Amino acid sequence: MTADPQSRDSAVKAVHQQFRIVGAGPTGALLALGLAQQGFSVVLHDRLSAELLLSRSRAYAITHSSRRLLQDLGLWAALLDQMEPFCSLRLDDCSAHCTAWFHIRDLRPANRPAEAIGWVLDHRPLMSLLLERLEASDQVALQLDDATPAEEALANEGSRQWIVAADGPRSMLRRSAEVPFLSHPYRQGCLTVKLRLTGAYQHCAYELFRPEGPMAVLPLGQDRYQVVWSAPLQRCRDRAASSASELVSTLDAILPEGVDVVQLLDEPGAFPLELSLAPRLHRGSLLLVGEAGHRCHPVGGQGLNLCWRDVSDLLNLTAAVRRGEMASPSLARRYSRCRRIDLVGVLLSTDLLIRFFSNHNPLLMPFRRLALFMLKRISWIRRFSLSAMTDGPGTLLKPLPK
Ligand SMILES: Cc1cc2nc3c(=O)[nH]c(=O)nc-3n(C[C@H](O)[C@H](O)[C@H](O)COP(=O)(O)OP(=O)(O)OC[C@H]3O[C@@H](n4cnc5c(N)ncnc54)[C@H](O)[C@@H]3O)c2cc1C
Repeated sequence: MTADPQSRDSAVKAVHQQFRIVGAGPTGALLALGLAQQGFSVVLHDRLSAELLLSRSRAYAITHSSRRLLQDLGLWAALLDQMEPFCSLRLDDCSAHCTAWFHIRDLRPANRPAEAIGWVLDHRPLMSLLLERLEASDQVALQLDDATPAEEALANEGSRQWIVAADGPRSMLRRSAEVPFLSHPYRQGCLTVKLRLTGAYQHCAYELFRPEGPMAVLPLGQDRYQVVWSAPLQRCRDRAASSASELVSTLDAILPEGVDVVQLLDEPGAFPLELSLAPRLHRGSLLLVGEAGHRCHPVGGQGLNLCWRDVSDLLNLTAAVRRGEMASPSLARRYSRCRRIDLVGVLLSTDLLIRFFSNHNPLLMPFRRLALFMLKRISWIRRFSLSAMTDGPGTLLKPLPK
């Protein structure tokens, strides 16, 4: 691409441009770091203190699209020791009694040298590395424990400042700016709990499709696992409120044969699930990233990875602005446009998976058996589905970035 005079001018202006990011969760913090590395000055707010930001008890399944971003930002090597790789993924349709396996050979060739289908990363080491790097950066002003009212952030709007809403699913900024937003609550909720298991395969993640909802069992290292268990919301809440022994026996009854719970390692938490999307991820100089702009069902471990693909695409665009290849005012429009296929693809496919598998419908059983049979027997179908999950549906017809 050649730079026209207007773009060159905007590259010069970009040097003085500031990003004000509200929300220092995993999305806002990673974006702040990426922008700072490109030379932009960044103000990053969060209403929580650093200690509270670190204290969530949850673990994320990391896909290859996230690996590439973490590598680009120089974070991968520092996180590698903290992550648990999984080299196989077992998919069970518990009603149709069918199983399919994914292995490293089912990845696209560019992903195979990483020698894992995915990784499981705990929230605390991720956030402590991000906060440590942000504190060390001269480009970032970190304002934690600081609840900036949305109106104040939006009032500071100016031609040299982009405001980024990374303030999560209930985003005040999105609501104050009245960005159109479509949202549909699932009847299913989700229970998350960390536990010790015996009898599970080593370096293997499980996705069990059960009539009440899917359940993911993600390895955290040694015999520790994180369970992400979807079911009707009230049932999740009742289970989370039940005694440890009751919860253990419910889990033992539904885990694959031979896999048993040894001990719960944290307090179970239940939370509602929703399908939501802002059809345009911008309004004026406000940009929505992460769960401020969309939310999907956790089936297939897409949530945080989808948020980080927002970060990755936005950083590609800001890099083009810095190089003078794109005029800065086009940034917001281009960002909204380039995220569309990936977001719609993931939201629709996770929703379809839930509708297809979360039931006992006898009419669907032959199709479900056929789907699992094809996954089991036809390698290109496995490769295609795994790539959609790990690289994102937008990359299916393109070569992967190096
Ligand atoms: C209870 C729960 C459990 C989950 N468990 C898992 C799991 O096990 N595995 C998994 O992969 N995903 C899980 N998820 C989803 C995952 O946490 C999200 O995909 C991810 O956190 C999205 O990151 P984010 O940075 O966009 O939003 P968030 O992580 O929600 O971060 C938003 C940040 O904005 C800040 N903020 C909000 N409003 C303001 C304001 N007005 N001013 C300043 N700061 C503000 C908040 O304090 C927060 O730090 C879970 C989600 C929930 C709610």
